[in-house]
Amino acid sequence: MAFYVYKFGGTSVGSVERIKAVADKVKLARDKGDQIVVVVSAMSGETNRLTGLAGEIQLKPVAREMDVLLSTGEQVTMALLSMALDELGCPACSYTGSQVRIETDSTHTKARIKRIDDAKIHADLNAGKVVVVAGFQGVDEHGNITTLGRGGSDTTAVALAAALKADECHIYTDVDGVYTTDPRVEPKARRLDKITFEEMLEMSSLGSKILQIRSVEFAGKYNVALRVLSSFSEGRGTLITYEEPTVEQALISGIAFNRDEAKLTITGVPDIPGAASKILGPIADANIEIDMIIQNVADDATTDFTFTVHRNDFTTAKDILTKTSKELSARAITTDDSIVKVSIVGVGMRSHAGIASKMFKALADEAINIKMIATSEIKISVVVDEKYLELAVRALHSAFELEQPPVEAAS
Ligand code: ADP
Ligand code: ASP
Ligand code: MG
Repeated sequence: MAFYVYKFGGTSVGSVERIKAVADKVKLARDKGDQIVVVVSAMSGETNRLTGLAGEIQLKPVAREMDVLLSTGEQVTMALLSMALDELGCPACSYTGSQVRIETDSTHTKARIKRIDDAKIHADLNAGKVVVVAGFQGVDEHGNITTLGRGGSDTTAVALAAALKADECHIYTDVDGVYTTDPRVEPKARRLDKITFEEMLEMSSLGSKILQIRSVEFAGKYNVALRVLSSFSEGRGTLITYEEPTVEQALISGIAFNRDEAKLTITGVPDIPGAASKILGPIADANIEIDMIIQNVADDATTDFTFTVHRNDFTTAKDILTKTSKELSARAITTDDSIVKVSIVGVGMRSHAGIASKMFKALADEAINIKMIATSEIKISVVVDEKYLELAVRALHSAFELEQPPVEAAS
């Protein structure tokens, strides 16, 4: 007998038929004697639909009410799945995040889980029931409903698996594992049998939406055995693992991209101490996260400064920068909200030189202009025009021969 937390994403519960199929799968596992806690997302498209409704009423919806609204999506699915299980003769009980209770901080729309009270779940499991929990939501210490940010059901599942000490956490989705890159962009992408936590963290933080970054952080911190699989077909999926890379490790393991970036440049800034802080301080004060930053070498005692932000924050950041530009007597500001970030990720990069030049050559061969570059130990990111996204991903996939398994796995 094993104890699993299963999470089913939006597409996997996107219709009554799909919900019934999920119930069949869960019942099968329970009939084998396994204990199962199921975490569900809203039916596909529902979170977007609700966000759209709010947007028709308020340009910037009140965050607290947004959470009340969005949490209803998952609540619908959990009840329907429990009914479908009941219909199969499998006793089940559903709970919202606040009923469980999953306690979070009070940062509406991107709350963090603080603690989980597992008493109700354990009691139900011991009574032989399947427990269905609404993903993506919790409750703060004042009883307000909170949500965990887009993709947050992944984090609910991993946090529950950690709190309940489950044997494994299975993330069931519409692809059969983690691929070398998003298979929707590069059909030649290859499924990975396993990927290290470190690489998965980078892939998620650089834009791969397959797992919410906080779910990977949680799994790494609490040592949760995490597997991504398809809810539509059988298979072993991809295991996220601590395993050390072997000598035959591929140079890079995957390519991530992020379509949500925008770039702002301020030129002719006096090259004096404190300029950077005067530019970025007001942006940070407005709670806007900055991603990449470049400051050029000073020329004629002035310098240029470029940074990127999330596209949702673009207009606010531009307004702030316009004000700062006047205060600093800078020459001008220029902006671009049609850029994307493409990144290559791999622990194999640590032990190999020449990866960056290989990346830049592959892009140059396709006449793709690089606008910004950032590197760290296991990743290299470039900013390019959004029209080049697909071309850049495919060119890099081919240049690093990602469609082929690394030597060790092939032999
Ligand atoms: P769910 O609704 O089940 O949470 P998501 O849409 O959040 O599903 O995540 C699954 C999607 O992630 C896939 O359909 C795929 O397009 C995308 N994706 C992005 N990067 C990858 C990757 N490296 N491997 C597999 N899928 C990826
Ligand atoms: N329903 C939420 C979303 O669409 C949470 C999730 O599915 O993980 O982002
Ligand atoms: Mg998701």
